[in-house]
Amino acid sequence: MHELARETLEKRTNDLIGEYDFEKRKKTHPEECICYQQNVKCHNLENLNCFFCLCPNYDMSIKEGGCKINSPNGKYIPTMKGKIFDCSACNFPHEKEDARNILLKVYTEN
Ligand code: SF4
Ligand code: SF4
Repeated sequence: MHELARETLEKRTNDLIGEYDFEKRKKTHPEECICYQQNVKCHNLENLNCFFCLCPNYDMSIKEGGCKINSPNGKYIPTMKGKIFDCSACNFPHEKEDARNILLKVYTEN
């Protein structure tokens, strides 16, 4: 990829991801999430980023859910009807840098 194209892509990706900073988003789009309305973060992260609210590694091909990369931070928890995969202890997609790298990888691989 041409250097100028890469620089432009990186800047736009940074700008886009930045729009999903929890503190910013709760003010600009409070209707999007009850967490914004209640000012309660779903993950205990200082700079929670909401771009990947649904982690791209979450395996939805399995009824109970799962983690495609087998993160040690996810685990199955019991429910009334069986079990469900719980990601609440995993911060992976909610760090700005991780979200940025996931998105850039998608752009540059296609
Ligand atoms: S990551 Fe999703 S559920 Fe969590 S605060 Fe952001 S928008 Fe809400
Ligand atoms: S455990 Fe982490 S990496 Fe795996 S699906 Fe859940 S949030 Fe994504």
